[in-house]
Amino acid sequence: APRIGVLALQGDVVEHVRALERAGAETLEVRTPDDLARADALVVPGGESTTVIRLLDRFGLTAPIRQRVRAGMPFWGTCMGLIVAAHDVAGLAQPTLDLIDVTVRRNAFGRQVASAEVLLAIPALGGEPFPAVFIRAPWIERTGPQVEVLAQRDGHGVMVRQGNVLGTSFHPELTGDDRVHRYFLAMLARRAEPVEASPG
Ligand code: GLN
Repeated sequence: APRIGVLALQGDVVEHVRALERAGAETLEVRTPDDLARADALVVPGGESTTVIRLLDRFGLTAPIRQRVRAGMPFWGTCMGLIVAAHDVAGLAQPTLDLIDVTVRRNAFGRQVASAEVLLAIPALGGEPFPAVFIRAPWIERTGPQVEVLAQRDGHGVMVRQGNVLGTSFHPELTGDDRVHRYFLAMLARRAEPVEASPG
């Protein structure tokens, strides 16, 4: 089974680990570049983005994550994880990992709806609407030409994909509906294996 790394510097790590394991993956908590080297994919959970951007630098993870993801390693950021992965963040000068060509705005759905469960239509998952939990969630203000918008709320992108990089403003790890976790595992399964030189 593929081994999915879950960044474990801060945030709701355990919920992702459980959901990934229910979906059939092995998991590994990632705190160091050595941990990252043993992972086949990386999930960055919800938490506090400005703190985690600082911690990634301090733990020497910024450069190796960029390098692995740009070389094709599947990556999924939920909420804070999407902010950390974005090309840029409105009103925030701190440099991000810059893995997906979107601009996000933090805490964008307003104070009165800081936390909400919304039934979202996500055609890529098929079937029933998805119970999406938003907690002081970002929305997506700009998407580059290579970015696919997989779901919207109030006219703003809340689930996006660019090749091997997936981002959700909401928290699929908190609902017990593991369809987004399975979608991510399918991204790994479909990933082209490197072509080996054939002998002779
Ligand atoms: N508001 C948080 C931030 O800006 C993200 C919230 C979350 O991950 N649930 O980092």
